[in-house]
Amino acid sequence: MTFHIITIFPHIFDSYLKEGILKRAQEKGLIEIKIHNLRDFTDDKRKTVDDRPFGGGPGMVLKIEPIYRAIKQIKSIKPIKRIKTILLSPQGKKFNQKIAYKLSKFSKLVLVCGRYEGVDERVAKYIADEEISIGDYILSGGELAAMVIIETVTRLIPGALGNIESIEERRVNQFPISNFHFPTHSYPVYTRPEVFEPKPGIKWRVPKILLSGNHKKIEEWRKKIGERG
Ligand code: SAM
Repeated sequence: MTFHIITIFPHIFDSYLKEGILKRAQEKGLIEIKIHNLRDFTDDKRKTVDDRPFGGGPGMVLKIEPIYRAIKQIKSIKPIKRIKTILLSPQGKKFNQKIAYKLSKFSKLVLVCGRYEGVDERVAKYIADEEISIGDYILSGGELAAMVIIETVTRLIPGALGNIESIEERRVNQFPISNFHFPTHSYPVYTRPEVFEPKPGIKWRVPKILLSGNHKKIEEWRKKIGERG
């Protein structure tokens, strides 16, 4: 799976995508992340990526031409099948695990990050296959949204999670994700100490059942708590 990010701030991605699971998935060759600076697809000396909105109004709008060129070039890179172009937008379909699962079946995801007042609407209308929002709030740009999608989708690629993480994932999400019965709640977890004393006389304890050593009872307790959410 290759993720192609189109952005005017390529350095935003410098650290996050090079740590943890994403780093490992790239090292194992399971995913590739390619960042494209929108300014490289402009055709003027000043590398203009934005302009004022027609009809007036505040802010600037990302122009269609560089985005069109960037996507055209990305689409010409092999493999040219199973490509999905996503425009990150607060008006888009709300991202969730079910969408992530569907996206994980593509071989190339193109993520277009808007900025300022947004992106010329013709990108949504004629170029993007889908508009996706990561929640009902307004970010300054699509870069964070792109990272959320990349991380969530990568976790679904076989082999991306380490052994312990995937065992845990399977245990928490008791249903096969392909059936879309995806519980959003898991059980609470605790670690040492058994009793934490923030102040003298106040004790915050780990539930006794977890210290009992009775694995059957612990599983039942976790299941009950998980179902309750
Ligand atoms: N008034 C604009 C609008 O409603 O689209 C706000 C644009 S926002 C300041 C700039 C860019 O951030 C958007 O074009 C989009 O790419 C990204 N963005 C903002 N909120 C987002 C969200 N909740 N999900 C995904 N992308 C978002």
